[in-house]
Amino acid sequence: MTELRKDYILDRYVIIADARGKRPHEFREEKQDKKVEKCFFCPGNENLTPPETGRIGDEKGWRIRWFPNKFSAVDAEGQVEIRTDNDFYTFANAVGFHEVIVETPNHEEELHQLSIERIYEVLKVYSDRIDDGMRRAEYAVLFKNHGAKAGTSIKHSHTQMIAYNQVPPLIKSKVEASKRYFVCPYCRIIDSEKGSDRRITESNTMVSFTPYASEHPFEAWIFPKRHIRQMHEMTNDEFYELASSLKQILVRLAELNASYNFMVQQSPAGENMHLHFEIKPRLSTWAGFELAGGTIINPVSPEEAARFYRGEK
Ligand SMILES: [Zn+2]
Ligand SMILES: [Zn+2]
Repeated sequence: MTELRKDYILDRYVIIADARGKRPHEFREEKQDKKVEKCFFCPGNENLTPPETGRIGDEKGWRIRWFPNKFSAVDAEGQVEIRTDNDFYTFANAVGFHEVIVETPNHEEELHQLSIERIYEVLKVYSDRIDDGMRRAEYAVLFKNHGAKAGTSIKHSHTQMIAYNQVPPLIKSKVEASKRYFVCPYCRIIDSEKGSDRRITESNTMVSFTPYASEHPFEAWIFPKRHIRQMHEMTNDEFYELASSLKQILVRLAELNASYNFMVQQSPAGENMHLHFEIKPRLSTWAGFELAGGTIINPVSPEEAARFYRGEK
């Protein structure tokens, strides 16, 4: 049976086409590691990256290190305001800054292999960097590309932050859709999903589940139970339990060798959207149907994906 499912609050639909689907382990990707001559992110090669913005550690060694991206997607200066010329030509420059956060000195170590304590430390750095980005630009997008299908060619575990002069459309539509409800819809969705057959984990402060209208096979969302808007509002307990849920999800995903994107979805300044985190595995390819209409066919039902994450057969 297939189903056309609408996102909780957005006017966005997906097609869950479970019947043509495979068992979770049939999605397993075969690893193909290319040998790299010299890794810019490895200790000893610090002089090959732009000057460091910060690090956790000392002169003798670092555990986490961040610096401007050598191949920035945005410019440091330019036309910030969006302008329309001759009715149809709306434009601005992408102005802001682009950073790389290297999450471990060990070239082979992946995020899910770090201890919960070290993931906690990494998440604190994410929060600090987003804060800096939000202070200096309109919005800051923090995202991780893991694996070739998620858009990275660099194996060494890292995350990126792009701060620029626009609130991205997806965030904007979540903010706008949230306003159409009396109380925060995500607070109610968390309540409903933590007991549903899409639940993955629940701790004192965090809930994770596979979203009802998942666009990607094995997509997972993590929410703080408290209605908070930005990462810097999180308590140490929340950071710790986020680290723990994230690790649990990524460890399962690693069994499939899945490329994935991880991203922070936080409220723009002055808005009231419920903070959350999304993990989007990249196991299927969007093709003609998706590009033609914008509706995505997902070959794994979120319920099946949640069973996989919970370790049930
Ligand atoms: Zn390396
Ligand atoms: Zn809320």
